[in-house]
Amino acid sequence: MNCFFCKGNLVEQNTNFMADIDNCFIIVKNVPSLVCTQCGEVAYTDQVSARLEQIVHSLCQALSEVAIVNYSAA
Ligand SMILES: [Zn+2]
Repeated sequence: MNCFFCKGNLVEQNTNFMADIDNCFIIVKNVPSLVCTQCGEVAYTDQVSARLEQIVHSLCQALSEVAIVNYSAA
């Protein structure tokens, strides 16, 4: 798999994901992701992006305005 933007190499690395939706700000730490060695663009597998969406959605519904969670613990 290569970078969508520059075709550079992607390496597996844990990164922090941030979402800012309505009044709710969420940080998910240690997300398994693919990072481009050339431009630094971060990509997620379908499985991970689906899981992130799920985490963000459930935290927003829990009425917390700011949430910081660990991907593996969420
Ligand atoms: Zn790139």
